[in-house]
Amino acid sequence: MRRLTVLGSTGSIGTSTLDVIRQNRDAYQVHALVAGTNINLLLDQIREFAPKAVVVADSQIQDRLAARLPETGQNPELSHGAQARVAAATADEVDFVMSAIVGVAGLEATYQAIVHGKSIGLANKETLVAGGGLVMDAVKKHGTQMIPVDSEHNGAHQCLRAGRREDVAKLILTASGGPFRTTPKERLQTVTVAEALNHPTWKMGRRITIDSATLMNKGFEVIEACWLFDFQPREVEVVVHPQSSVHAMVEYNDGSVIAQVCATDMRMPIQYALTYPARDPAPVPRMDWKTPRTWEFEPPDFDKFPLLRLAYRAQETGGAATCILNAADEIAVEAFLDERLSFPGIAEVVGETLEMVPNRTPSSVEEVLHIDMLSRQTARRLIQERTARHLIQERVSAVR
Ligand code: NDP
Repeated sequence: MRRLTVLGSTGSIGTSTLDVIRQNRDAYQVHALVAGTNINLLLDQIREFAPKAVVVADSQIQDRLAARLPETGQNPELSHGAQARVAAATADEVDFVMSAIVGVAGLEATYQAIVHGKSIGLANKETLVAGGGLVMDAVKKHGTQMIPVDSEHNGAHQCLRAGRREDVAKLILTASGGPFRTTPKERLQTVTVAEALNHPTWKMGRRITIDSATLMNKGFEVIEACWLFDFQPREVEVVVHPQSSVHAMVEYNDGSVIAQVCATDMRMPIQYALTYPARDPAPVPRMDWKTPRTWEFEPPDFDKFPLLRLAYRAQETGGAATCILNAADEIAVEAFLDERLSFPGIAEVVGETLEMVPNRTPSSVEEVLHIDMLSRQTARRLIQERTARHLIQERVSAVR
């Protein structure tokens, strides 16, 4: 039986993870559920999965949860904050940690779980985008099994099992192209939040959905792939594939290409991570080969989606460049969602932040978090300055 901690249990990946567990209750026991603020869903999850421990974002949420806990008929230990997240991920009883908190809040608990040798299902991007070098050193040092859950890396993990690593020529990650694949560049200035959140093939959390619309998410995936599978950025190619059926491909030296194909349902890679190296039946739709289908592939438009190029550059630069990239993007996406920044403004703020925050190689998680904080401050300031400039321009135009 696998004993799990689910970091981010109330999110898109977290709920899909619990659904996989629901289909095979005898194989899994949930030790801890870790979430932020979604008390209602957490109460349902506590009632159904009877965890020993539950961790939330802060003490107020914990108090509100405690007041309603009797509704569940369960009595888990409640706690909150960063240390409690680490404790839930490193408890002796736990052998598998699903890392699915969004943002840098997921980094420390995932890192400590790696150091404690827990098997990891990795969805949280920041673990590798912000802390890649440190994290992979810890994976190697502690012999930790870390299986990527992101569909592209999970696909790559499967394709790489087809041959020897030294025989691989390149890795190809597919991108749906997002909701603005065919939108003219000039129109991007005025696209709305609702349009950007309307992802054509995947249902995901808000930040990753916007990151998919800007192709930043694909840039993060290039960075993650470099760390996970030991590639140089130039060895990782992105190809736009609007149907999102092929998730990744690996080209071997002889020109043969192995592709991984399955339905667009995150429960497949989640289950793969949980059962690896075994393959159990997964609760996902099968590919229907009786229905005619067309698959398209086209190169990405780096000019229209400059964040993809910035991601390649940041990984080539090294040090903390990808940490700065991620932090600035998180703040810029937040501002876009609050309608304080235009869609192209996201890439502009990220680019300016990268130029302004001094780069150095972090040697601890604390240092990563410090650089992350500095980058956020810089990005926030840049956004405020843009807003102020915009207001002045509006007033000047009104006077004229
Ligand atoms: P969601 O926004 O749907 O969920 C995020 C989860 O993180 C929620 O459970 C949320 O809790 C929790 N959380 C946020 N802040 C904190 C905090 N301070 N402490 C504890 N928990 C917190 O995100 P997704 O599930 O879509 O994505 C999770 C991660 O996986 C991201 O890094 C994403 O990039 C990555 N990923 C997601 C994919 C997908 O298909 N969704 C695919 C590949 C990668 P609450 O809601 O209770 O506040």
